Parts: sequence; C-alpha cells; structure tokens
Amino acid sequence: MEQEINGIALPNAEGFFGAYGGQFIPPDLKQAMDDINAAYEQIRHTAEFQNELNDLFANYVGRPSPLFHAKRLSDQLGGAQIYLKREDLNHTGAHKINHCLGEALLAKYMGKTKVIAETGAGQHGVALATACALVGIPCEIHMGQVDIEKEHPNVVKMKILGANLISVTRGTATLKDAVDSAFEEYLKDPKNYIYAIGSVVGPHPFPMMVRDFQAIIGKEIKEQTHERFGANPDYVVACVGGGSNALGAFTAFLNEKDVKLVGVEPAGHGLDTNMHSATLTLGKPSQIHGMACYVLEDDQGEPLPVHSIASGLDYPGVGPQHSLLKDLGRVEYTSATDQECLDAFMTLSRVEGIVPALESAHAVAWAIREAPKLSTAVKIVVNVSGRGDKDADYVAGKLGLN
Ligand SMILES: *Cc1c(COP(=O)(O)O)cnc(C)c1O
Repeated sequence: MEQEINGIALPNAEGFFGAYGGQFIPPDLKQAMDDINAAYEQIRHTAEFQNELNDLFANYVGRPSPLFHAKRLSDQLGGAQIYLKREDLNHTGAHKINHCLGEALLAKYMGKTKVIAETGAGQHGVALATACALVGIPCEIHMGQVDIEKEHPNVVKMKILGANLISVTRGTATLKDAVDSAFEEYLKDPKNYIYAIGSVVGPHPFPMMVRDFQAIIGKEIKEQTHERFGANPDYVVACVGGGSNALGAFTAFLNEKDVKLVGVEPAGHGLDTNMHSATLTLGKPSQIHGMACYVLEDDQGEPLPVHSIASGLDYPGVGPQHSLLKDLGRVEYTSATDQECLDAFMTLSRVEGIVPALESAHAVAWAIREAPKLSTAVKIVVNVSGRGDKDADYVAGKLGLN
C-alpha cells in the first residue's frame, strides 16, 4: 500500500516528501540510485522477498519485540501509563538490524558483490556486518581513525563478523571523512557495489526504503495495544537522530489522528548553546547528503558542528519525511537535554531494570517529564530503540560509579 498524508505522497515518484527529499546528486550516482529503486520496487511485494524478510524478523531478530507495561515507573510518576516497545531486545541490541537485513537482502537479490557503508560510533557498522555475514555478502565499513580509537568494542565486533574495516585518516578522521571515503569507494563501481545508508536519510530511495523496513515496529505496536487494551495508544514517542526508529514507530499511525506522535531531538547542553543537535527544532530547510531537509547550518550554508551525549543522534540533517511532518504539524518535535537523558537512563535502569541506549533515553526523558501532567487513563508508548550496554562504561565514568 502506497502511503500518503493529506493527499501528499510519501514520497512521490521523484522521491519528494512535499518539498523535501529528492536526489541532489551527480548523474552517475543518480543512475545507481534509480537502479536500486527499480530493484526495490520490483521485489518489495514479491512473496519470496517478504517471506524471507519476515522469517528473519521472527527467527533471527526475535520479533515481535515485546510491549512492556512499565508499571513501577508509571506509578512513581503518578500520571499516564508508560509502555516500552522493546527494540533493545532485538538481536544486536537495537532497531538498526531491521533495515540492515532489508538492505543486505536487496543487495543479494541485485547480485551485488560488496556492501559499503560508513559508521560513526560503530552501531550501523555492527548491524550491517551482522546482516552481511548472515546473507553472505562481503561488507566494507569506513570509519574515522579517531572513532576507531574511541569505539574499540564495536571495531572488534565488526572484525569478528568478517567486515573489512577501512581506517580513514584524512581531515578530522571522524564521521564526515568516513562518509567521503565510503562514497569514493562506492563510485568506483556502483553497478556491482551498493551503499547501505544507516537511517531514513540520503537520496531517494533510501529514506523510503529504510522507513519501510522499520515500519514493522509500529505495525507491532498497533497489534499489541489492540490486543492488550482494544485501542490505539494515546501517544507514540521516539528519539530522532536521522529518524529511522521514529518513522518505524510512527508509520502505522500517521493517518490515525487519535494518536499523538512525538519526536524527541537531542538538546545537548541546551538549545540556547551551540552544543546540541536539534535539527527540526532550530534548523531550516536546506540540503545535505543528497536530499532536501531541515539542516543546522551557518550563514555560509555549511553544516554546523553538532553535539549530543548520544553519538547516534548527532547529525546536522534529518530525514525528509520528518521535515514534511513537522511542517504539517502531524508530529510534535521537541527535545531533551544531555542531563535529562542521563537522569532517564538511570531512572529506567533502577526502577524497571532496563538499561536503555543513551539515544533511547531521550524518548524516556520525555515520558518522565510529561506523564505526571496526564491522567492515569492515558497510554504512552515509548520506543526503546536500543540497549545501553554500549554506554554503560561512559555513564559509570560520568557518574563516578566505577
Ligand atoms: C543509531 C541509533 C539511533 C538514531 O538513529 P535514528 O535513525 O534516528 O533512529 C537511535 N537509537 C539507537 C539505539 C541507535 O543505535
């Protein structure tokens, strides 16, 4: 079923979500993206592809992920009832495996000989290396040397999983340089290689395709809430970096106006500082990485340096569909600071025994802030996009627990 909102296609044939999205890329790259789109359109509805993906979701990822009533937390807050969508329980510990499996399967169906990607903190790299090991396709991950030194556990995991890890030493040797390096490699042979983007960003068809693979999250939330209490939830809340776990959770509810949708951006040290990454809250419509979307940029149109305590959220752009949903007012975009996020991380750990990823803790922070203002009849679903094992040492150091 094709998607739309208020009669606007999500996206149209050129990959636009209203004024956002599209393909702002050189002609040879456009040809490669159009080939990927054609292949995706051809296989997405076939029983073979759907059966293979659904089988992996069930028996490899462990779907459906549970919907857990955080009763002790709800009672303590004394307001709305909080339910947690447990994407943290997925194989590899986060939602990213959902779209990495889709991308790896697509690569296999297209007969690609190599899957290429960049990674910052290593989360996308590990999920992709996992999916490629399973599907049996060589995987090449480009990572800045600075990040390689910082993210040792993920670096080792990618190597164990058989990925070819390319250390990028140019420039500042961080994420942006890794993107440049990975793209150069991709452009050497776009017919046989495929670039696997890690969120609902980049040129068409990636914002659409990654969303489609993640939409299983909201589809399950809907089934689970209807089975549990015979109705939609009142709120669905998710953190927004590029925006893939949020669109995954929102898609099933976009045209159900009784469900309020909330996206939580990282406010870092505060929205009045230059240490945040609240793109939809404070950015403006522009272009980045081959798409039109909200961007945090300076007066010269250069992307601003961004900050979040959660490395998976510090991106100066955001998915084009989110940019449209903001303009339409369908999703409320708000933010949580590093401090609120840390507090939520500890609260959920100590009250429910669930250690969330620092990214996910932004959505939990919103629920902790807002639930007390709402009646006990209100039901909030918080998407816990990943688990916090990767953040445990950092938080322990920060709070003097080790
Ligand atoms: C990467 C990541 C995110 C941010 O990506 P989105 O595309 O915004 O979902 C959020 N949570 C976790 C656990 C992540 O690993």
